[in-house]
Amino acid sequence: MRVQISPPAPKKFINFLKYMLHQKNLSIVVSCIDYRFWPQALPLLKEKYGYFDLITIAGAIKNLTSPAKKESKKTLLENIGISIKLHHPHSIILVNHIDCGAYGGSKNFKSEKEEIEFHKKELEKAEKIIQKKFPQLTVKKEFLTVNKEKIKFSSEKN
Ligand SMILES: [Zn+2]
Repeated sequence: MRVQISPPAPKKFINFLKYMLHQKNLSIVVSCIDYRFWPQALPLLKEKYGYFDLITIAGAIKNLTSPAKKESKKTLLENIGISIKLHHPHSIILVNHIDCGAYGGSKNFKSEKEEIEFHKKELEKAEKIIQKKFPQLTVKKEFLTVNKEKIKFSSEKN
């Protein structure tokens, strides 16, 4: 079997990567893996917050507030630590979404309002954990809902 070796990256591209390392306004996004959300959510986040290191993990911040396994919390915190060490982000955006399977989905709540309220508290809990561990980061919180087949931040009006 032949091993495919990719050609060296053109100089322009390498320069671009070096240039990108000096982004001043970098953040970290912690987001769920759910395919129903990220294709629309990531461009929205990029538009609102600029460039970010992306950490996707099933259940997003549930891994901080009530992880199914201790290791998931450890892995998530380690990834945040690596991003800080390599890219010096100034803020972290914690993103949960409606109907998240890791939380049992929307069927676990009586109404959308109740679900949004629950996640608001989750995000606040996660914020405290991040602030304690990484006081240098500004914490921002977002909750994704759906309106007319479009993903939107719950903080925004319809
Ligand atoms: Zn999810």
